[in-house]
Amino acid sequence: MASALSEKLSRLVKQMRGQARITEENVQEMLREVRMALLEADVALPVVRDFVARVKEKALGQEVVGSLNPGQALVGIVHRELVATMGQGVADINLATQPPAVILMAGLQGAGKTTTTAKLAKHLIEKRKKKVLTVSGDVYRPAAIEQLKTVTKQAGAEWFPSSPDQKPVDIARAALDHARRQYFDVLLVDTAGRLAIDEAMMREIKELHAAVKPVETLFVVDAMQGQDAVNTAKAFKEALPLTGIVLTKLDGDSRGGAALSVRQVTGAPIKFAGVSEKIDGLEVFDAERHAGRILG
Ligand code: GDP
Repeated sequence: MASALSEKLSRLVKQMRGQARITEENVQEMLREVRMALLEADVALPVVRDFVARVKEKALGQEVVGSLNPGQALVGIVHRELVATMGQGVADINLATQPPAVILMAGLQGAGKTTTTAKLAKHLIEKRKKKVLTVSGDVYRPAAIEQLKTVTKQAGAEWFPSSPDQKPVDIARAALDHARRQYFDVLLVDTAGRLAIDEAMMREIKELHAAVKPVETLFVVDAMQGQDAVNTAKAFKEALPLTGIVLTKLDGDSRGGAALSVRQVTGAPIKFAGVSEKIDGLEVFDAERHAGRILG
């Protein structure tokens, strides 16, 4: 199926007909369309600039100038570069450690952390046959603790109680201790997220990280966040050694450009995609398919 970008480029190339061959200037013109397409897909501007510069190098270096079908050749380069940037191959959860393997969930409030915690619990139980415990360190919102309890039950995992009068670090330590004594394979630690980045929040999650030494630190980010995803990702990357990304709400109507931005800023692999509010709405991220979505 032709993408919106490939249609635009074909039109451009048609206007260039009559010339003996495509020139460097024509390529520049086509690259402007690529830039527009990425911005329309909500890829952040600095990321677009970088990306287009890489594509330009490849486009001028070979294939496009002198190609029989320069529009398609350029779309091919863009597609391959998107896939390469977002990361090919399946990156499942790493559990290669002495159990219990701790997984720390990080991200802004509303990104989908609690939902994703339960989805992951279900994934690990069903696909990896693990015994999974969850705990919430969100001492600011009692409702969040209750929410995790409810969804953990739906996932068929066990939930460790916590309460707003405790410190997140103490909660996590107690849960880890329980997980050890009860021979759990995995402990999923859900954390508090604020509506915006703030220093106290970052300090708290850093302390949590130091206390439980997770094998995976997953950054949960809302695909609908668009351009802002870059700043959020930067702040979390500076605070924590992220090992993976979960891109949520891909069932929404966003073109998902946040995937490219977040991947480029953090360098961490995009491991999963959230595709519904339901507990089974988690898929292994597919860069090939996602590149097609970004191109429209
Ligand atoms: P948290 O504050 O980061 O823990 O976010 P929640 O897990 O509470 O999720 C916030 C909202 O987003 C809830 O209404 C979830 O049902 C919804 N949500 C989370 N993940 C997805 C997803 O992949 N798709 C859709 N459509 N909704 C989601």
